[in-house]
Amino acid sequence: MESGPIVIVGAGQGGLQVAASLRQAGYEGELTLIGNEPGLPYQRPPLSKAYMQDGNPGALKLRAAEFYDKQQIRYLPETSVTAIDRDDGRIATTSGELDFGHLILATGASNLRPPIPGLDRTLDLRTLADADKLRERATGDRRFAVIGGGFIGLEFAAVASKFGLDVVVAEAAPRLMARAVSPQMSELFLKKHRDLGSTVLLGDPVSAIDDRGIALVGGTHLEADEILLAAGVRPNTVLAEAAGLDCANGVTVDAQLLTSDPRISALGDCACFPDSRSGLRIRLESVQAATDHARHIAARLTGKQPDPYNALPWFWSDQADYKLQIAGLAQPDDRAEAVDEHVVFRFDAEDRLTAVETVNNARVHMRTRKLLAGGETVGPDTARDLLS
Ligand SMILES: Cc1cc2nc3c(=O)[nH]c(=O)nc-3n(C[C@H](O)[C@H](O)[C@H](O)COP(=O)(O)OP(=O)(O)OC[C@H]3O[C@@H](n4cnc5c(N)ncnc54)[C@H](O)[C@@H]3O)c2cc1C
Repeated sequence: MESGPIVIVGAGQGGLQVAASLRQAGYEGELTLIGNEPGLPYQRPPLSKAYMQDGNPGALKLRAAEFYDKQQIRYLPETSVTAIDRDDGRIATTSGELDFGHLILATGASNLRPPIPGLDRTLDLRTLADADKLRERATGDRRFAVIGGGFIGLEFAAVASKFGLDVVVAEAAPRLMARAVSPQMSELFLKKHRDLGSTVLLGDPVSAIDDRGIALVGGTHLEADEILLAAGVRPNTVLAEAAGLDCANGVTVDAQLLTSDPRISALGDCACFPDSRSGLRIRLESVQAATDHARHIAARLTGKQPDPYNALPWFWSDQADYKLQIAGLAQPDDRAEAVDEHVVFRFDAEDRLTAVETVNNARVHMRTRKLLAGGETVGPDTARDLLS
């Protein structure tokens, strides 16, 4: 059992979860949670969904204020960790220094800022402050351009079109959500967004932003009053890199989520970990990964000897009346078989089921999660049983 003190850098989904899980698992030592945002830790997924519509910050809070006192979690908001001294086991923050016995990096990710001229005119959607600013602007007859047809851009587009706003989505890739879903799912969502009234342009990257809107490489100019930049994220690794920890597409961790320094763990959006199924090193931007990583680290630090990390990835996205759910993790080249209008199976080169994408079909999603979590190889015939 780690005797502490344990310090967590980043008070988001994973940071808060690891603090809660440590207490739940019986860790009684000093526990400090440091976050650079104001207020209590909150969940991000609703920012582009329910919160965009209702603006209710109370519904976002991960835990009530009393929780921190009761669990003896020292929470430091609006505090940035600026350096890690690994030799002395100490960190520097904007409000002083702190010693650690074990340090957990839960620094998340930041919006990717491609080198497009005029980018300073864009809005972001990563934090509660971003969402508030965006909500203020998403009124009246303002015309919106969204740069990026990934999950966040499309979730916003769905809400904005519901508000009756004029929305154009400009995606550089030839299809929507191309990194994460099959071509069939991209097509289904393209139709949905066009039916909702959004203009969606594919395969034509944004080349510049000006006072009147956005220009595309192909020569089109799109008029817009507001521009949302939703072109993906990059892991927050500055602190880890400066401390000399191994980093490559995130902070590199092993199957126990330990960094190259055995006194430092990393989790969630900022961590690049070995995927037990594919054997590849991956980084996942999902609530599931952040919370499962957190639980794993808490188990290890409280003396349990967890097996190598092998939680099954799963993800969801709400866009208008479509709930997309993905169980498992497919590689881009995995074969995609649409077995129903709203269900797509993905298989690897050896015909093993790697993921199932569903729309408004929680039953098949949950059954897939159960089946794939078992770790057995699932071929096309067994996969079909998921539909019965
Ligand atoms: C709009 C939006 C919608 C999303 N929708 C979904 C969804 O539908 N489903 C899903 O699974 N996932 C969704 N996600 C992703 C999900 O929210 C993230 O994967 C998850 O929050 C990752 O948790 P984390 O703890 O790794 O990072 P975060 O929750 O991002 O927390 C990291 C925190 O660390 C802070 N920090 C960074 N550096 C420092 C430092 N040096 N000092 C102090 N603090 C620091 C950051 O400011 C941040 O507050 C969405 C994300 C966004 C932005």
